[in-house]
Amino acid sequence: YTAKKLGRSRFCYFTPTMQQASESRLRLTNDLRHALIDQQIWVAYQPIVNLATGEIRKAEALIRWQHPTRGLVSPAEFIPIAEETGLITELGAWVFHQVAEQVSNWRIHHHDQFQISINKSPAQFHNIGHKLADWFEHLQRLGLPGGCIAVEITEGLLLDASSIVSDKLLAFKDAGMQTSLDDFGTGYSSLSYLKKYQIDFLKIDQNFVSNLSAGSTDMALCEAIIVMAHVLGMKVIAEGVETVEQRDLLLKAGCDYGQGYLFSKPLTAKAFEKLF
Ligand code: C2E
Ligand code: CA
Ligand code: CA
Ligand code: CA
Repeated sequence: YTAKKLGRSRFCYFTPTMQQASESRLRLTNDLRHALIDQQIWVAYQPIVNLATGEIRKAEALIRWQHPTRGLVSPAEFIPIAEETGLITELGAWVFHQVAEQVSNWRIHHHDQFQISINKSPAQFHNIGHKLADWFEHLQRLGLPGGCIAVEITEGLLLDASSIVSDKLLAFKDAGMQTSLDDFGTGYSSLSYLKKYQIDFLKIDQNFVSNLSAGSTDMALCEAIIVMAHVLGMKVIAEGVETVEQRDLLLKAGCDYGQGYLFSKPLTAKAFEKLF
């Protein structure tokens, strides 16, 4: 809010490229309003693989926007727009319903413990509030336990000193839903937060994984993160695993799960089913 308030009383000089960028953003904002109705939005699923057994019993849901003229627009580009415009509420609800239906289907046909994780940005998380009850009700209607869904949040959220965040995390816990700490290592985590919030999964950010080699600093960091997470009762998921060498090093370090192009890119639900 502060940034917006400041912005109003500040002079702004637009260069032609800045103007182009903001016009293109404006167009994107308008397009996004129609994207859901026009069925341009879909959910991709990326497997989360048990490193020791190779089993796939988890997936991360990643939103996709197939724009009619621009092609695939990255969520990194349109999620912030959705947040500024409030469209994120609708988008988030839509993702949740898609995922609930998908996990129900895969539990029936493939594995009865299958779990899909969904991403929640800090702003989204703060707005979840009254919707939580609707979520749990929806799952119940589908005959699904809370554990079929994991919610991925980022470290910044845990810095919130108020009880709001811990209350919501507790509500997830009560409903049997699990939580994952996304992009670990890029934010401001502290051991005390990790202990306090009883997060179930810690996802090591791909920055640490991409340069893994025996004896490297990143290797030592990964090893330390894995030990720490296990002490705190968390399972560890390494993100951005692209090579066999990375996978082997992570497995040796005791990492529980891996996610990345080595195993599979994010896929359509139909393509994902071929992995079962
Ligand atoms: P994230 O949650 O950290 O998701 C992981 C990103 O890494 C995904 O990018 C995924 O496609 C990519 N990735 C997976 N394996 C590899 C690999 O081996 N190498 C590399 N280089 N990249 C890999 P994506 O799908 O473009 O999503 C970007 C971000 O957008 C996500 O980062 C997440 O923060 C956000 N996002 C995606 N879907 C949603 C959603 O439904 N809601 C919200 N709030 N945010 C979402
Ligand atoms: Ca994520
Ligand atoms: Ca991540
Ligand atoms: Ca990320």
